[in-house]
Amino acid sequence: MYKADSKIAEEFIDHQEILDTLEYARNNKSNRDLIEQLIDKAAQFKGLSHREAALLLECDQPDLTERIFRLAQEIKHKFYGNRIVMFAPLYLSNYCVNGCVYCPYHLKNKTIARKKLTQEEIRKEVIALQDMGHKRLALEAGEDPLRNPMEYILESIQTIYSIKHKNGAIRRVNVNIAATTVENYRKLKDAGIGTYILFQETYHKENYESLHPTGPKSKYAYHTEAMDRAMEAGIDDVGLGVLFGLNTYRYDFTGLLMHAEHLEAAFGVGPHTISVPRICPAADIATQDFPDAISDDIFCKIVAVIRIAVPYTGMIISTRESAATRRKVLNLGISQISGGSRTSVGGYAIPEAPEENSAQFDISDTRTLDEVVNWLLDLGHIPSFCTACYRAGRTGDRFMSLVKSGQIANCCAPNALMTLKEYLEDYAAPDTRAKGIRLIKKELEHIPNPKIKEIAIRNLKEIEEGKRDFRF
Ligand code: SF4
Ligand code: SF4
Repeated sequence: MYKADSKIAEEFIDHQEILDTLEYARNNKSNRDLIEQLIDKAAQFKGLSHREAALLLECDQPDLTERIFRLAQEIKHKFYGNRIVMFAPLYLSNYCVNGCVYCPYHLKNKTIARKKLTQEEIRKEVIALQDMGHKRLALEAGEDPLRNPMEYILESIQTIYSIKHKNGAIRRVNVNIAATTVENYRKLKDAGIGTYILFQETYHKENYESLHPTGPKSKYAYHTEAMDRAMEAGIDDVGLGVLFGLNTYRYDFTGLLMHAEHLEAAFGVGPHTISVPRICPAADIATQDFPDAISDDIFCKIVAVIRIAVPYTGMIISTRESAATRRKVLNLGISQISGGSRTSVGGYAIPEAPEENSAQFDISDTRTLDEVVNWLLDLGHIPSFCTACYRAGRTGDRFMSLVKSGQIANCCAPNALMTLKEYLEDYAAPDTRAKGIRLIKKELEHIPNPKIKEIAIRNLKEIEEGKRDFRF
């Protein structure tokens, strides 16, 4: 039976509730009055239930879809302004004991080179990332209790935080590793991680089990209840996601929102972020094998409806997507993107021969970080390297209440300008620098609070004089 605040996976992701939701959406998809009422409700910025969101996703009337897209953009601007936070993934190891059929790291794949970085290699990777200008990483590792034990992950986090190369620093390490125990989540919390990210892949239990035939990840309930254990361990910023295309998108979209509702109901804090990866080609993996792979149009709609259903949650997109798709969804609510990414182990510091492919997936957006920053500036977004919130203790419900009251924008905008300024001083190409300086000047005028504006101007001057790491 469906129970949002239950701690049992099959109760908070109740299969029948998802089926009933999809039927409700199908039955009402031509009910314009109802759909318009829901759009009006979403325009109050308080979010929507999974049933309401499922109906909007089902709506196929162009003018109403257009309204949904416009509202998604408005919500992104209201809560986060026009900053886009930048990050990069860092792959530590592609050894993995699981059998996920959609991932080239699965145990039986003999076509990729297996690698695990030593601490010295991590140091080189981090220096390469700092030299690009990155301040925020998402750590990735396959699940292998012998080769990648928790001690290795913790030591790697410590190494990453300890490296200060020139003006560089990694100020926030988010972690995307396998579901684990409360005790291990406590250790991650103590190591100072930002967000704990774990993708559900699919919420459909039967399909989940056939997509994960072997290894510890094959346990649906243990995987689905991982965020509860992380929260119990005190990690209050968690990141959800499904791999769209593994299963029917309507089912997983509904499951994803039910998971968000569950965290809110059980812990009083919804997800900090939602990522929207979709299945894409990789070594040993062909998208033709996944008949549920989704089109760009559906993808855009999913992003927009998630944005209006959970307005307080950050939304992340990776370089799996092309520049053209990323451009579209930036206007539909995405608030964080990766740039200059390498999805191979050691890919930032050590150029890899093609026959040594160790990548988890093919990158569509292959531009450098500076090219992505330059492009964002052209589009009128503020590329931000901000990591302020968790360092200032603004996590969990504290963070959420600042977002809900609209106050976070008072931090996001000046922090974006100051961290962009650091980037322009230390790493940018001349053209990017010139565009960035123009944008900072213009955006300063939009800071409404005179006191904050005055401090931001003073800090920007000090950054020019060589000081670093200011934040609101
Ligand atoms: Fe391993 Fe994760 Fe790939 Fe599965 S998705 S094979 S757990 S790295
Ligand atoms: Fe993110 Fe907080 Fe920085 Fe805004 S102020 S960009 S929410 S870390």
